Amino acid sequence: MAKPIIIAGAGLSGTLLAVRLAQRGFEVELYESRPDMRATDISAGRSINLALSDRGLRALEMVGVHEQVLKDLIPMKGRMIHHQTGNTHFQSYSGREGEFINSVSRGGLNIALLDQAESFPNLKLFFNTPCVHVDLEAGLAHFHDQSANRHIHREGSLIIGADGAGSAVQGSMLARVPGCVSTIGRTG
Ligand SMILES: Cc1cc2nc3c(=O)[nH]c(=O)nc-3n(C[C@H](O)[C@H](O)[C@H](O)COP(=O)(O)OP(=O)(O)OC[C@H]3O[C@@H](n4cnc5c(N)ncnc54)[C@H](O)[C@@H]3O)c2cc1C
Repeated sequence: MAKPIIIAGAGLSGTLLAVRLAQRGFEVELYESRPDMRATDISAGRSINLALSDRGLRALEMVGVHEQVLKDLIPMKGRMIHHQTGNTHFQSYSGREGEFINSVSRGGLNIALLDQAESFPNLKLFFNTPCVHVDLEAGLAHFHDQSANRHIHREGSLIIGADGAGSAVQGSMLARVPGCVSTIGRTG
C-alpha cells in the first residue's frame, strides 16, 4: 500500500493543503495537536478576525468552501486615522477604486476547511495528536496520541510541517544543522 502524505498541523494552511492533496487522489493523514475545535469550546488560536484578500478567496474556491465563507465576510475598505485634533483621515487599503479586503472569523474559516477535509475518504484527521519529532532519514513522523496516552509513529511518502510558529517539524530539521541551536519543537 502506498505510504500516505503526512501533515502536522490542522490550522488554515495544513487543512487547506490536505484538501488540495485529497482532491488529487493522494492518501493524506492530518495530525493536529489540539482537540477538534468543532466539538470543543476552544478558540482557533487567535481571537481576532483575519483579513482575507482575493488571493485567499481564490484558494477557498479551489477547495469548494468559498460560497459558505462569502456570506460571513465583512468588507474592510481601509483604515480611519483619528487625529488628536479630532480630524479624521481615511486611508484606503487599495489604490484601486472598489477594492477591499475581507474580515473573516479565523475559527469559522478553519471549521469550514475541517468539514470539507472530513468529506474525503482518503483524508484522515487526528486530533489531540501533536507531532513531537520527525526522523528525516527514516521518513518517520512521531506523534503523541494524547487521548490514548501513547506514542505513535507513521511513515510517510512526504512529511509536511504546517504546525505553525514553534513547529516541531521545523525543529527536527534545524536540529540537523551543525551549530544551530533551536528551541523550536521541544516539548520539555
Ligand atoms: C495576531 C495575528 C494576526 C494575524 N492577522 C492576519 C490577517 O489578518 N490576515 C492574514 O492573512 N494573516 C494573519 N496572520 C497570520 C496568520 O495567522 C498566519 O499566516 C496563519 O495562521 C498561518 O497558518 P498556519 O496554518 O501555517 O499556522 P497556524 O494557524 O498557526 O496553525 C498551526 C496549527 O498547527 C497546530 N500545531 C502546533 N504545533 C503542532 C504539533 N507539534 N503537531 C501538530 N499540530 C500542531 C496548531 O494547533 C494549529 O492548529 C496573523 C497572525 C497573528 C499572530
